[in-house]
Amino acid sequence: MSDNDFTILDEEEKKEQRDGGTEKEKSHELTASEHGKKDDNSSEYEKICFICHRPESVTGKMIDLPNNITVCPDCMQRSFDAMTSGAVDLNRLMNMPGVQFVNMSDLENMQPKQQKIKKKKEKPKEFHQLDIKNIPAPHKIKARLDEYVVGQEYAKKAMSVAVYNHYKRVATDTMDDIEIEKSNMLMIGPTGCGKTYLVKTLARLLDVPLAITDATSLTEAGYIGDDIESVVSKLLAAADNDVERAEQGIIFIDEIDKIAKKHNTNQRDVSGESVQQGMLKLLEGSEVEVPVGANSKNAMVPLTTVNTKNILFICGGAFPDLEDIIRERLQKKTSMGFNAELKDKLDHDKDLLSKVTVEDLRKFGMIPEFLGRLPIIFTLKGLDKDMLVKILKEPKNAILKQYQKLLALDEVRLDFDDDALEAIAEKAMEKDTGARALRAIIEEFMLDIMYEIPKDDSIGEVTITRAYIEGTGGPVIRLRGQAVPRLG
Ligand code: ADP
Repeated sequence: MSDNDFTILDEEEKKEQRDGGTEKEKSHELTASEHGKKDDNSSEYEKICFICHRPESVTGKMIDLPNNITVCPDCMQRSFDAMTSGAVDLNRLMNMPGVQFVNMSDLENMQPKQQKIKKKKEKPKEFHQLDIKNIPAPHKIKARLDEYVVGQEYAKKAMSVAVYNHYKRVATDTMDDIEIEKSNMLMIGPTGCGKTYLVKTLARLLDVPLAITDATSLTEAGYIGDDIESVVSKLLAAADNDVERAEQGIIFIDEIDKIAKKHNTNQRDVSGESVQQGMLKLLEGSEVEVPVGANSKNAMVPLTTVNTKNILFICGGAFPDLEDIIRERLQKKTSMGFNAELKDKLDHDKDLLSKVTVEDLRKFGMIPEFLGRLPIIFTLKGLDKDMLVKILKEPKNAILKQYQKLLALDEVRLDFDDDALEAIAEKAMEKDTGARALRAIIEEFMLDIMYEIPKDDSIGEVTITRAYIEGTGGPVIRLRGQAVPRLG
C-alpha cells in the first residue's frame, strides 16, 4: 500500500463524515432515535438523578451519561464546581496511600437499576390559582378569600394587602434604594375563628408551599423539643425539596402567645423569650442550613441552604388575658379616678381585642424586637351564631355541601331546615371552640343517616330538622315519588 492509498482512504473517510457518517453509524443513530421515541412513548415514567434522586419534573432536563446514568443539571454543576474550585486536588489524591480511583469501564457491569420512576399523575386543577409573579390587586385576592372564609372582613383585607405587597416586593426584588420591608403578620383571635384556615386558603390560592408549626413545640437549640430552624426544614419538605419554591413559601406559626416571656421566673426561659430571640433572624431574612429530606441534622443527610428573605411568616395566637391588659390601659387613659359607666362599657365591649396596640403585646410578654419584625398586626372576631350558620352552608366547600354531594352519589337529596342549622350553631357555641365544633356535631348525627339511607333504595329525600338535632324527633324521609314523615 502506498502513501497515496492512505490519502485516498482518508479522503473517503472525510466524504463519509460529510455525508453524515457511515452506514454503520447511521444505523446506530437510528436506534438511538428509536430509543428516544420509545422513551417518549413510555412518558408515564421519568428519569431520576443518580446523585440527588430528584425526578426530572423537579430538576429540569437530565444529562445522560454512559451506562444509563442520568444526572440533573444542579448536581452536574456542583461536581464541576468542586473539581474546578480546587477543592479536590487530583494530583495529591492520586499519590495518597489507600486512595483508589474507579475506572469508568469497570462500571460497565454494574449498571444501575432502571433510573426512572413513575411520574406523579397531574392533579386536576381545583380552581384558578393566583399568579404570584404577577400578583393581582388586593381586592381580587380578597374576593377569592371571600369564597371560602366567612366574615373576618378586616383580617381578609389586611391579609390581602400584606400578601400583595410581599409578593410584589419578591417579584421586583428591590425598588431603587428603598428596600420594602417584609410584610410578616401577627393574627390575634380566639380559637376556631379561622386563623389557620385563612392561611391555608391563601397558600392554596397562591399555590405556594406552606408549613404550619406550633410554637409550643419549639425550644432554644440544644434543649428537648424542635429547634427553631426546623420550621424552615418543614417548608422545604412541603416544597418537595425545591429550594427555590420554598424560598417563596409561607410559614405559619400557631400558638405564638405560648412563647411569651414568662413573668416571675428565675430559670432560663428556653421555650419562651429565647425562642422569640432565636426567631428574630429567621423573620428578618437569613441563610439557614437545613437537612434535605429529614427533620434533623445528622451526618447521613445532605444539607442545603435556604434564604428566608422572601419567606412570608405569619404568626397566630389566641392571647388569652390580652383583653384585660387592653381594658386596663383604656381605663387608665380615659378616666381619671373611678368611672362606673366607662368600666361597664369596656366590660361589655365585644370588639375590645381589635383595639390592641404593640404596647399591650409587650405587656403580654412579647419582646419589642420580635414585634418589630411583625409589622402587620390584626385581630379576628369570635364567631357568633349567624356566622356559624353561614360557615355551615355558604363557603365553596361548606360541610353541608360535602354531605349533600356524598348522598347525591346515592341519588338521595339532603336538605337542612333553617331551624336545624340554628340548632347546630347553638350547640357549637356551647362548646366554645369556634367553628371547630361544627364538624364534630354534624358528624355525630350524620353517621346514622349515612348508615341507614343506603340500606333502602326507595328513599329519595332526607330533611334534617331541629327536632332531630335536639334528639326529640327524627329526620323527614321522603320515598321516591311520595312523602312519608317518619318518627325517630
Ligand atoms: P384557629 O383560629 O384556631 O386556627 P381554624 O382556622 O383551625 O381555627 O378553624 C377550624 C375550622 O373551622 C377550619 O378548618 C374551618 O373549616 C372552619 N372555620 C373557622 N373559621 C371559619 C370562617 N371564618 N369561615 C369558614 N370556615 C371557618
